[in-house]
Amino acid sequence: MSVPASKKSNSAAKRRRSHIHVDPVNLGNCEKCKKPVRPHHACNSCGFYKGRDAIAQVAPKTHAHTHAAEETKTDA
Ligand SMILES: [Zn+2]
Repeated sequence: MSVPASKKSNSAAKRRRSHIHVDPVNLGNCEKCKKPVRPHHACNSCGFYKGRDAIAQVAPKTHAHTHAAEETKTDA
């Protein structure tokens, strides 16, 4: 295994690490619902992109059934 010829100075190490970072995400606002949206992406909340609904949004399922049967079991 090769080993560096000499210790890298603190300044050289910090200079190398000066490029190690994550760029902040560039966000715009959805034309329809005004929520933050990434460029060239359909809106996550309403599916709107380039003047039309690009993704059909499915309405959340309603919790229709009741828990009456389960309640009677716990009483017995
Ligand atoms: Zn939207």
